[in-house]
Amino acid sequence: MSGGDHLDFEIRPNPAPVSDADRAALLASPGFGRIFTDHMVTVRYADGKGWYEPRVEARAPIPMDPASAVLHYAQEIFEGLKAYKTPDGGVAMFRPDANANRFNQSAGRMAMPALPVETFLQSLHEIIKIDRDWIPEDPEGSLYLRPFAYASEVFLGVRPANEYLYLVIASPVGPYFSGGVKPVSIWVTPDFTRAAPGGTGAAKCGGNYAAGLSAQAEASEHGCDQVVYLDAIERKYIDELGGMNVFLVLDDGSLITPPLTGTILPGITRDSVIKLAERAGRKVEERPISLQEWREGAASGRVREAFACGTAAVITPIGTIKSEDGAFTVADGGSGEVTMAIRKELVDIQRGRAEDPFGWVH
Ligand code: PMP
Repeated sequence: MSGGDHLDFEIRPNPAPVSDADRAALLASPGFGRIFTDHMVTVRYADGKGWYEPRVEARAPIPMDPASAVLHYAQEIFEGLKAYKTPDGGVAMFRPDANANRFNQSAGRMAMPALPVETFLQSLHEIIKIDRDWIPEDPEGSLYLRPFAYASEVFLGVRPANEYLYLVIASPVGPYFSGGVKPVSIWVTPDFTRAAPGGTGAAKCGGNYAAGLSAQAEASEHGCDQVVYLDAIERKYIDELGGMNVFLVLDDGSLITPPLTGTILPGITRDSVIKLAERAGRKVEERPISLQEWREGAASGRVREAFACGTAAVITPIGTIKSEDGAFTVADGGSGEVTMAIRKELVDIQRGRAEDPFGWVH
């Protein structure tokens, strides 16, 4: 199916929603990914039938046959984005069309059917509309939206399934940094790679994250917050973190970031940073960055700042970089000026506190 298909969602309100008092108590300290709203969206797919039975219903366990293809061969994709309350009392989403397009790129890589962009956007609107009271009032909080789809066909043969389920669930989240933005420390894993050319690195599929858990555990053992991956061939160039893209700020004010060659996720925050920086007259280069260039640049002062970016934390300064060859920091390992300025500019646009030059906010 292609774009432009409008589906009529059947709305089945939750007969036993969380009470106002209980919801208020939950929203007082939501944390991340632990509490959920009263509803979910479901849309089914079958070969020959296309997408059908679009529904908004009470969030509940989904019955699953033990032979469901996803449980065996991991044919699954997901997205992540946030909805916020804006100062004028409205609700905003940031670039949801970009998530819709990436969802379909992931679907293509995993031999899954594309979901019409309009259906993806409609599904987000539906859940926001019915669960609007779950969006935190906290100006740094948000409602994290998790659209995903998986192979629901009951079949053990190894081939693309012919039945899928698409869902959206929503989880209120608190500020990512309580008590101010803190630089993260990162571990350059010598043992694991994330994605090889021709692999699934550019797709947002669950398997990529399962494969990264050991590397993240290794990072924790070395006292680091996050893992950073090197390229799988030469083990020399920076790819990305487990859930964020990387930028370096050079002494001439320009930005450099690894190119989209298929082994890293095309981050929507990454793309937004590039567009904002270029608009402000900064040079941005998408090119391979070796760990050696980073380390030497930090020592010489050519690399002035480093940051990671993604939906969850928006922009996070990178403090210490630790590898088997020792640790180093960029400048004093704190929050750089350019990093924090780009962060503020982006957050203000997302939150409806600043002009939206690219029409990103829906
Ligand atoms: N890389 C990976 C592996 C991720 O999981 C994410 C989070 N989606 C990102 C980068 C950042 O992408 P975005 O800016 O679209 O959140």
